[in-house]
Amino acid sequence: MTEHDNELRAAWAEVVATARRTAAEGLVVGTSGNVSARVGDLVVITPSSVRYEDLGPDDLLAVDLDGVTRAGRLRPSSELPLHLAVYRATDARAIVHTHAPHATAVSTLVEELPPVHYICGALGGIIRVASYATYGSPELAEAALTALRDRTGCLLRNHGTVVYADTLATAYDNSAQLEWMCRVWLAAAAVGTPSLLPPEEIALAGEMLRAGGQPKT
Ligand code: 13P
Ligand code: ZN
Repeated sequence: MTEHDNELRAAWAEVVATARRTAAEGLVVGTSGNVSARVGDLVVITPSSVRYEDLGPDDLLAVDLDGVTRAGRLRPSSELPLHLAVYRATDARAIVHTHAPHATAVSTLVEELPPVHYICGALGGIIRVASYATYGSPELAEAALTALRDRTGCLLRNHGTVVYADTLATAYDNSAQLEWMCRVWLAAAAVGTPSLLPPEEIALAGEMLRAGGQPKT
């Protein structure tokens, strides 16, 4: 077993664990959503329409950046074009796509998520809604890339969320934060007119969030 094989196996285990978490924590129902991680020139990605709890180490699935399967027998996620487009256009190392309920609700109402909370700074600023296109289509990948400009997350109209990051842990956490912000806005907007944060405050919070946390050891 080569070093590269070990890296792929470790990434696969983390991809499956993250996908299971999206279901366990209510960001998707059933086999909805998909998760991937980049390992060198390969992308480890969840297969299409397979329950996450049924995936084991032998189901490892890796494709190259042209979408050609390099390891595994299962058919990759239908959103492979979206994942590959993000890896080609950004420095993403991990991508989480969900159908989180409050985020999906918000995606049907507005062009961007009104900035009710500074945590949107963690994703680069005010969150946009990508225009609708059929799931799995190159048009959806293109629309998502447009909405992701200078951001690491967006909503997909009438569909869900996409978040990328340098690790699966951060991609997951920011997906959960995005869902939480959508829930807060819906709750506030249901009873009144929420106050919103100015762009400079979001930019400041984003800088502080990037500089904050614990020193790297
Ligand atoms: P897959 O099961 O093919 O990954 O599709 C789920 C999904 O969310 C499509 O948008
Ligand atoms: Zn989807």
